[in-house]
Amino acid sequence: MVGSVECCVCVLERKEWMQALQQAMAEQRARARLSSAYLLGVPGSEQPDRAGSLELRGFKNKLYVAVVGDKVQLYKNLEEYHLGIGITFIDMSVGNVKEVDRRSFDLTTPYRIFSFSADSELEKEQWLEAMQGAVAEALSTSEVAERIWAAAPNRFCADCGAPQPDWASINLCVVICKRCAGEHRGLGAGVSKVRSLKMDRKVWTETLIELFLQLGNGAGNRFWAANVPPSEALQPSSSPSTRRCHLEAKYREGKYRCYHPLFGNQEELDKALCAAVTTTDLAETQALLGCGAGISCFSGDPEAPTPLALAEQAGQTLQMEFLRNNRTTEVPRLDSMKPLEKHYSVILPTVSHSGFLYKTASAGKLLQDRRAREEFSRRWCVLSDGVLSYYENERAVTPNGEIRASEIVCLAVPLPDTHGFEHTFEVYTEGERLYLFGLESMEQAHEWVKCIAKAFVPPLAEDLLARDFERLGRLPYKAGLSLQRAQEGWFSLSGSELRAVFPEGPCEEPLQLRKLQELSIQGDSENQVLVLVERRRTLYIQGERRLDFMGWLGAIQKAAASMGDTLSEQQLGDSDIPVIVYRCVDYITQCGLTSEGIYRKCGQTSKTQRLLESLRQDARSVHLKEGEQHVDDVSSALKRFLRDLPDGLFTRAQRLAWLEASEIEDEEEKVSRYRELLVRLPPVNRATVKALISHLYCVQCFSDTNQMNVHNLAIVFGPTLFQTDGQDYKAGRVVEDLINHYVVVFSVDEEELRKQREEITAIVKMRVAGTASGTQHAGDFICTVYLEEKKAETEQHVKIPASMTAEELTLEILDRRNVGIREKDYWTCFEVNEREEAERPLHFAEKVLPILHGLGTDSHLVVKKHQAMEAMLLYLASRVSDTKHGMMKFREDRSLLGLGLPSGGFHDRYFILNSSCLRLYKEVRSQRPWSGAPETSHRPEKEWPVKSLRVYLGVKKKLRPPTCWGFTVVHETEKHEKQQWYLCCDTQMELREWFATFLFVQHDGLVWPSEPSRVSRAVPEVRLGSVSLIPLRGSENEMRRSVAAFTADPLSLLRNV
Ligand SMILES: [Zn+2]
Repeated sequence: MVGSVECCVCVLERKEWMQALQQAMAEQRARARLSSAYLLGVPGSEQPDRAGSLELRGFKNKLYVAVVGDKVQLYKNLEEYHLGIGITFIDMSVGNVKEVDRRSFDLTTPYRIFSFSADSELEKEQWLEAMQGAVAEALSTSEVAERIWAAAPNRFCADCGAPQPDWASINLCVVICKRCAGEHRGLGAGVSKVRSLKMDRKVWTETLIELFLQLGNGAGNRFWAANVPPSEALQPSSSPSTRRCHLEAKYREGKYRCYHPLFGNQEELDKALCAAVTTTDLAETQALLGCGAGISCFSGDPEAPTPLALAEQAGQTLQMEFLRNNRTTEVPRLDSMKPLEKHYSVILPTVSHSGFLYKTASAGKLLQDRRAREEFSRRWCVLSDGVLSYYENERAVTPNGEIRASEIVCLAVPLPDTHGFEHTFEVYTEGERLYLFGLESMEQAHEWVKCIAKAFVPPLAEDLLARDFERLGRLPYKAGLSLQRAQEGWFSLSGSELRAVFPEGPCEEPLQLRKLQELSIQGDSENQVLVLVERRRTLYIQGERRLDFMGWLGAIQKAAASMGDTLSEQQLGDSDIPVIVYRCVDYITQCGLTSEGIYRKCGQTSKTQRLLESLRQDARSVHLKEGEQHVDDVSSALKRFLRDLPDGLFTRAQRLAWLEASEIEDEEEKVSRYRELLVRLPPVNRATVKALISHLYCVQCFSDTNQMNVHNLAIVFGPTLFQTDGQDYKAGRVVEDLINHYVVVFSVDEEELRKQREEITAIVKMRVAGTASGTQHAGDFICTVYLEEKKAETEQHVKIPASMTAEELTLEILDRRNVGIREKDYWTCFEVNEREEAERPLHFAEKVLPILHGLGTDSHLVVKKHQAMEAMLLYLASRVSDTKHGMMKFREDRSLLGLGLPSGGFHDRYFILNSSCLRLYKEVRSQRPWSGAPETSHRPEKEWPVKSLRVYLGVKKKLRPPTCWGFTVVHETEKHEKQQWYLCCDTQMELREWFATFLFVQHDGLVWPSEPSRVSRAVPEVRLGSVSLIPLRGSENEMRRSVAAFTADPLSLLRNV
C-alpha cells in the first residue's frame, strides 16, 4: 500500500501543486490584466493594440509580441502570452522605433536594440504604427484628459459610450474613444477635427478646455444624438463598419440631430446666430450652426460684420473659440451621401484636404531614378490646420508621419509619367527631406498640389498661386541694393519664367530664363550661389539648404536651356538673338573679319559638328577662344545651324515672298517690300536677320583682306538662309540686297552705324598691333566691376567699349542693379589698389579702357558713392585762388627703385600746387599764412607736371603714416618709369582740399558733370554683336598680354583712324 499511499500523497501533492500553480497563474493573469488595463487607462480592457508573431534577430524561433498601452511585451510564444509569462517588457517612454528596410524595423532602447522582422511590408507598417502609438502613449500626459473628464458626460465616448475616452473632436466639441476617433478622422477635417487629449498638448488652451466643460458630450449629444433609434446606437464593441455608418449619419448627415425651430429659414437662422453669439448660450450656437446658420453671415453691423466679430465685441471668448474651430465645418446634409472619394476632393474655404495618396519613403537626396509603382504605399492623407498627416488607412488614429506646412520649403511637380504613378508631386522640407506622392488622376493630383501650395505660401506671395507652376517655394536670395544680407524670397518656376516675390521691394517682372545673360554657380560646394544676370538686374540665390537648392538649380538650368530646334526655342540673348548665333557672330567679329575666305572656307567637319553640338546643348556656357577654335570651324557651325533650322530663318510660310521680292525691278519698291516682309517675321527671326546682316555688312567692309565682298557673301548665305540648293539665284540676291540696303531696310541710324564702325576698327587695330608684337588674342574687353564693395555677389561683368567713360560705366552698373540716383548721391567709379591700400575715384570723363588695361592683379574697379565729393565741390566753389599750398608730411617709396631699402619715415615738406605743376620745398624760410603767399626757398626740391600724376586716397598701413589722411601719388616718367610717394595731411578737410585742387587742376576745372547730363542720359544702347557679358574667364596675364600689345594709349590709335 505504500505504493498507493505514496500514490495518494503524490496525487495530493500534485493537486496542491496544481492548485498553487493555477492560482499563481490566475493571479498573474489578473495582475497582467490590471496592469495593462491601468496602462491603457481603460479598466476592463486588456486587449492589446496589436499582438502577433515577430522575428527578433538573435532568436531562433519567432516571438509573440504584444503592444499594450505604452509597453511592448515579448513572449516566447502564444501560450506563454495567454499564461501571462513574459520574457520582458519594454517601457516605450524610453523606446524609439525606426524602419530599416521593407520588412524590418528597430526598436531602440538605451540598453539594447531589438531588430524585428515582420512577414510582410504591410505587417511591418502596422507594427511600426502600433509601436509609435505606444511611444506617443508613453509620452502623453493625462492632465488635460483629467480636467475634461471632470464633466461627467465627458467620461464616456460621445459616440459609443466607451469609458475614459482620450480623444476629442474640437469643432464638434465632443470627447470620443480611440476607435471612434479613427472613424472621425475618416469623415475628413471638414466634418470633424480630431485631436488627442493626451498627445496634442498644445491644442488644449484654457479656453478650449473650458468650452469642453460647458458644451462637451452632454450638450453635444442633446443636439447631435437627439433622435437615435436604439437599433442604430453604437456600443463600445461595435465593429468598425457599424461605427463608420453611425458616425456618417450622425455628423455628416445630421440624421439624429435636434432640429432647430428656425431650420430651413436661412435669414432667420443667421439672425439668431448673430444674437446667440453675444450671449453665453453655447448650446444655441451649436444648434444653429448644426442646422445651417452661416458662420460668416453678415451681421448688418459694419463695425462687427461677422458672428465672430460680434462675439468678440460682446467679450464672449468661448463663443469665439467655438466659432473659430468651426470656421471650416461643413453643414450636415442628408443628401450628401456621395461616394466617399468624391467628397474628399472638395476644396474647403481654407486649406484642408484629405484623401488617399500614394507615397514613397522620404529621401535625403534628389530622385534621379524612376520610382516604380510598387515603391509607393497607399496612405490616407489629411491636410488640416497647417499639417499634412499621413495615416495607415482612413481609420487610423495615429499618423505614420506628418509634414508641417511651415516646414515645407518647396513643392515641385515632375512631368507626367516620371514615376510609376502618372501624376506625382514632391514636397521638400526644411529638414532636407524629399517626399514623393503619386496619384492616378490628374485632377486629384492638381487639387492636392493647389491645396498644399495654399497651405505653405504666405499671403504676400499668393500671387504666385494664380498660375500653374512646376516648382514653388522659398529660397534665400540677394538682389538689388540689399546685398548685405540674404532674405527669403518666394519663387515659382513655370516654363522658362521664374517669378519672384520679395518681402521688401516692388513686385518684380518675371525673369525670362532663356534670355539670361549669365547663369552660373559661384562659391564652393558648401556655399553655392546661383547667379542669374538679366539685362537690368542680378539675382543671387543661395544654397543654404542643399536639397531643395539642388532641385531648383536643376530646374532653372533646364528651363534656361534651349527647348527645341526652332529659332525662338533657343537660349536668347539680350535683343532676342539666339545666344548660339550671337556667340558665333561675336567670335568671327573679333577674330575672323580679316581671315581670308571667311564663311566661304569650310571648317573641319568633326570639329564643326562637335562645336555645334555643344552650342546647341548650352550655348551660354560655351566660350569660344582663339587658339582653341578656328574661325572656319565657327563660321561653318553657324552656317550649319542656320541651314538646319526646321522652319528656316525666313520661315517656310514667308520664304517664297522674300524670293519673289528680289525680282522687283524698282529698287525703292523692292526695299520697301523687304521692310514690309521683315515686320511680318516672328520677333526672334527678325532680330536674328538683322544681327546677321549687320554682321555680314561688317564682314564685307574688310573684303580687301578677307576677299568676301557682298556678292561672295550672298553666294554663300543665300542657299544657307533660304535652305536652297544654290541653283536659285534669287536667294543670293535677297542676301545681297539686304547687305547693300542694310541701313535702310533695318532703319539703322547714324549713331548706331558709327558706333559699330568704331568697335570694329578698334578690334582690327588691336589685332594688327597684336600680330605685330607676336601675340594673338581675341581680346574681350570685359571687366569685372563691383558695386559698393568687392564681393562675389556684387560682381558685374561689363564689356568696355573703347569710348566708354567712367561716368558711363558708373551709370551702366547702377542701371543694371536698378539703383536710382538721388540728389547729392555722387556715384563714382573707383580704382582700388588693394596692395597699396589706396583708391582713386576716376574722373567722370576718364576713359575706362586704358585704366582697365593698366590695372594690376591686386586692383579692381568698384562703383560707390564718393562721400567727400560734396565737401570738395563746396570748397572749390568758395575758395579764392586756383592754387593751393601748405605743409604735408612726405615720404618717398624707394623700394620701387628696386633697392628694397626702408626709406625712413615721413618728413614735413612744403608743397605748392598750381595749374601746371606740383612743387616740393624742403623748408619754408618764412611763412606768413595771412598773406597767402609764403616765401619759400627759391628752388624746389622736386617738381612734377601735374597732369602726369595719379593721386590715390590712402596710404598703406605698413608705412605707418602719421595721420590717416594720406595720399599715394604715382608719377610715370616719359620713359615709363614709375615713381611713387606718400603725402599725409593733418585733417580730413585738408586732405579733401588738396584732392579737390588736384582734380580741378588736372581736369581744367570740371570736377563733376553738370546735372542735366546725368538726367538726360540715354539708356545704354543694345549694340549688335558688341554687347557681351561673358565673365572674364581667361587669366589676368592673358588680359595683360593683350593690353601690352595694345600700346600705351589705345585711344590715340583710334583717333588716327
Ligand atoms: Zn467610442
